[in-house]
Amino acid sequence: MIDIEKVLLVGASGMGMVPLALYLKGLGLSVEAYDDNFKEPIRTILKNKGITVLTESVPLNKPDCVIRSSAVNEKSEILKPWLKTKVPIYRRGDFLAKATSGKKVIAVVGSHGKTTTSAMLVWALKKKNFSFSYLIGGMFLENSILPGEYNESEWVILEVDESDGTIDSFSPEITLALNCDWDHVDLYKSKDSINNVFKSLFERTKDTIVIPKGSNLEKLTSGESGKTIHTFPVKKKLKNYFKNNFSAVCAVGRSLGIEFDSHCLDDFPGLARRENILFHANNRIIVEDYAHHPTEINAFLSRRRNLFPEHAMQVVFQPHRYSRTHALAKEFAEELSIADDLYLLPTYAAFERFNSNGTVECIMAHLPPRLRKRAKVYSDFKVLCDSLLPHENGNLKDQVLFIGAGDIEKWAHCFAAWENGQQDKLKAFGIYLKNKLSSETHLVENEPMANRTTMGVGGNARWYAEPANTEDLKSLVDACNQFSIQRSMIGRGSNLIIPDDGYGGLVIRLKGSFWKEISKRSDNSIIVGAGAKLKEICGFACNNEMQGFEFLEGIPGTLGGALRMNAGAMGWETFDLVEWVSFLMPDGEIRQIPGTDLNVGYRYCREAYEGIALRAMLKSEGKLNHRKIRNVIDMLAKRRRAAQPRKASAGCIFRNPDDISAGLLIEQVGLKGEREGGAYISSKHGNFIINNGNATAEEIISLIQRVRERVRESSGKILEPEVTLLGKSWDEFLS
Ligand code: FAD
Repeated sequence: MIDIEKVLLVGASGMGMVPLALYLKGLGLSVEAYDDNFKEPIRTILKNKGITVLTESVPLNKPDCVIRSSAVNEKSEILKPWLKTKVPIYRRGDFLAKATSGKKVIAVVGSHGKTTTSAMLVWALKKKNFSFSYLIGGMFLENSILPGEYNESEWVILEVDESDGTIDSFSPEITLALNCDWDHVDLYKSKDSINNVFKSLFERTKDTIVIPKGSNLEKLTSGESGKTIHTFPVKKKLKNYFKNNFSAVCAVGRSLGIEFDSHCLDDFPGLARRENILFHANNRIIVEDYAHHPTEINAFLSRRRNLFPEHAMQVVFQPHRYSRTHALAKEFAEELSIADDLYLLPTYAAFERFNSNGTVECIMAHLPPRLRKRAKVYSDFKVLCDSLLPHENGNLKDQVLFIGAGDIEKWAHCFAAWENGQQDKLKAFGIYLKNKLSSETHLVENEPMANRTTMGVGGNARWYAEPANTEDLKSLVDACNQFSIQRSMIGRGSNLIIPDDGYGGLVIRLKGSFWKEISKRSDNSIIVGAGAKLKEICGFACNNEMQGFEFLEGIPGTLGGALRMNAGAMGWETFDLVEWVSFLMPDGEIRQIPGTDLNVGYRYCREAYEGIALRAMLKSEGKLNHRKIRNVIDMLAKRRRAAQPRKASAGCIFRNPDDISAGLLIEQVGLKGEREGGAYISSKHGNFIINNGNATAEEIISLIQRVRERVRESSGKILEPEVTLLGKSWDEFLS
């Protein structure tokens, strides 16, 4: 039992941690969960259960202990602050053993099939109204029930993992061992060492051991006198491993005095990534499976061949971990040889260092010549899509099987969306993202963009999104990368012209409370979200007597746009205030970069151009009475009102040349008041083009071209646009 109240889970979106979070919350603990990559639906499930989902690894309350997932190394930066304190840090498995020590544990172990079998057991026992808690390492499809639950009952069903060595902490009442194969070769150097782990688990088992009849596990239980040993029948040829798993479930039921009939799993929904049918049409079936060991691949492929003997079998395989690939390359090649066609993805490292002896090419080397000649390694999704045509032997029916435990899940789901969207990437993009974003995120098609800008012209965005949080933003960017869809950011739209034919990709806006944070961190700095308005930042600083933000008052944009443009006025610019900025970089990494390391220039910041600005720390010049700050703001506003028009515009159209203002140059050639359709040059400021309400982007662009020509003719100076043209380069329009 445990005597703590508050826990912090680190690496909390993994399938070991999610059920633990649910269990501990059910037990009445305060649970805070951190992961740098929370995906849906996990984030929503945890939040709905009252678990605090953190976007930074700093918890709201000091925890009594920290629990780390096996994916978080003990030397990880995230854990460093806790190493200096007395707060204990547990491995997930060790803590689970501690948290369930007062209960009668039914442990489901084995090299293969333990998630499915423990899920089946949970499903069947729930139907019999047996009372128990449980934690399993997979998501039920359609979230019909959650992967973890706490109940006052004395029983708890645990899927116990042997991969990280924490299996040694458990002393179950009942142990169901499904099989024992050599795997996790980084930890278990030989078959004997994994056998010994299972043998000592049997020794620690208090009452009943359930094992397959005639298996190598029988030998390992031979010394266990005084315990009940139940065996269950298994078919050697694993063409229908569900039957074997069900036999195991029935054997555990019998040891609890419960008989399951053959229909008790008729409505079993299945588990995510376990023989999950993603697409089923007459001529093509797309299935994903978690198989990542040769034995599992054999079981899965034999079963699929058996189910659809007429279909060509096209296998997409991603090896998981260099160490396993290195140790079992030959066995992988043997099991994959049953495929009609083979498509390979590079080995998924899963926190291991690159090892040239464990690359996917090592498997290729062992393939039979028939497959080796045709198999290729893919790193581009589009190339894979173009290659995954019906099998060459003229068989028009095929099953495309995506196999592996790494990020092949994304490839499988994207490919299914691609087929569902009739091979149109923009349709597929929407289909793929349908269940991958939280419900607060807004994603729509064909969104009018004109009224999202201050200029008020332009067509529709093919896709438009307002992500509710960083994870959803990452998912959107990731999907754009996967489908090669162009994307662009928009803030307040005060420095943007939208072309009349709109934008063919995804426009993203950081709207909503998550992005609008403005919070004080120390006497002279604030953290600001990229979606916060410049006017609000200025107001916040004034109220908190922080000097230096006054120039932001009249610039009608958001922090994101101001960082990208290095917006400035009256001699100050945005980067005068910046301590650091965090960006989502194009490769999906989040990086916090000090202001001094950023590549910044006049109306430019390279990192914000390449990446997406998320948040920044801004520092004040010093303390000043808020009335004095207000006076400066009022004075600057007065100057702005006197110099700039207040009608629909995008601010200054051109950048100022080094020695003179663009507005003055335009005024000098007599272009103030010049018109093109509904667009005209302001009579107040030569560098402002006004939309009288009816202008089109084409008219504005044509006016820009004319101004540029006339200024060049008369002064020899070439004006370069400051304003951005969404999705297009000015080079297309300006000679
Ligand atoms: P948007 O116009 O929406 O976008 C501008 C650029 O930033 C785009 O390329 C966009 O893709 C990119 N972007 C937006 N968000 C992000 C993000 N999170 N990460 C990365 N890139 C992003 N500007 C000045 O510098 N000084 C002034 O005094 C000034 N006065 C103005 C007065 C008026 C009346 C108007 C209409 C505009 C004025 N501007 C001025 C221009 C404009 O307000 C600024 O450039 C402002 O910073 C743009 O912010 P935004 O949120 O509107 O960005």
